[in-house]
Amino acid sequence: MAGITRDPHLGADLDDVGDDVREWLAAVFRDNGELDARRLDSLVFERRRDLARLTVRALAREAAPEVGALWALEVRTVEPGDDEPAGAVRVGVETILSLDRAGVIAEAAEGVQGYIARERQAIWPACPVHGRGLHPAVRSGAAVWICRDGDHTVAPIIGE
Ligand SMILES: [Zn+2]
Repeated sequence: MAGITRDPHLGADLDDVGDDVREWLAAVFRDNGELDARRLDSLVFERRRDLARLTVRALAREAAPEVGALWALEVRTVEPGDDEPAGAVRVGVETILSLDRAGVIAEAAEGVQGYIARERQAIWPACPVHGRGLHPAVRSGAAVWICRDGDHTVAPIIGE
């Protein structure tokens, strides 16, 4: 893995990534053997896209009873190419930049939340205790909704 310790295509210092990303990369190398930067970029793209879709599906289902069906909300993608080597994955106005599972889920959740705010003029989800809008965050490696009133963790963004 020495060759990809600093991959300019990923825009990330892979020394700093968490266990989740290290395990994923280990599996990538185990399954693919040697692979070039282009192939790695496309695997990063697919990972972001698939996790973003999972998040959007789960949250749209959860939010629908409160804010209505979110038919028009979709994960928008730009396939990896010369202009954007790792492609682009967007949810609402949020561009997914994380590599770790929890980070991607939290960014996608922020995109869903922003979409609901703009399109439905609604704050979703709200803290069941304080009634304030929750914020997506990564805590102890998990993507969770937190409430800044008392700074308490309310629920995982996606039930495992
Ligand atoms: Zn609260």
